[in-house]
Amino acid sequence: MARLRITEIFYSLQGESRSSGFPTVFVRLTGCPLRCGYCDTAYAFKGGDWLKPAEVLEQVAAYGVKHVTVTGGEPLAQSACLDLLTRLCDAGYRVSLETCGALDLARVDPRVIKVMDLKTPGSGEVEKNLYSNMAYLSARDQVKFVICDEADYLWSREKLADLGLADRCEVLFSPAFGLQEPRQLAEWTLRDRLPVRFQIQLHKLLWGDEPGR
Ligand code: SF4
Repeated sequence: MARLRITEIFYSLQGESRSSGFPTVFVRLTGCPLRCGYCDTAYAFKGGDWLKPAEVLEQVAAYGVKHVTVTGGEPLAQSACLDLLTRLCDAGYRVSLETCGALDLARVDPRVIKVMDLKTPGSGEVEKNLYSNMAYLSARDQVKFVICDEADYLWSREKLADLGLADRCEVLFSPAFGLQEPRQLAEWTLRDRLPVRFQIQLHKLLWGDEPGR
């Protein structure tokens, strides 16, 4: 059975998305093919421990909670991630996947809630967006824009309209921590009456950049 390279498995509050505020076990897979300028998980680019899927499930079960988020790095960069997602769903967890939007979602278990980034110009990785992924998003999924500045906001507003995103899934606008002033982004969103959910990363408010939180 293919093993997975894991940076950390930890227990915290979900800080983003529709599950924000729920006690959640996070499985952070090692490695990412992107290099976003604002990345707060560069410590997950390398290292990690090789674990069998059964060992991951055993560690997750020890926390005794319902919500599990598979994240990274970029979890889909490891092909064994697909099998892990299915096993977690089979075990009855409410599973979400945080993914950068640059890797194909076609084979992700349909029970998984996908939280997919669309990378803005300010990330430095905008050309990596894989727009064919739109076909795999539904009302239970979310697309997230991490917005670094006004140019990013305007770009995101345009993508929202051009791709008809709000009709397809829930859309999140989130200020890049330390780059975009949250209040200004909230005011732009209200001014333009955008059908998006504004969110601030709860875990950053509570714990800053502390790894494993
Ligand atoms: S996709 Fe995520 S993990 Fe990868 S560099 Fe960008 S922010 Fe960091």
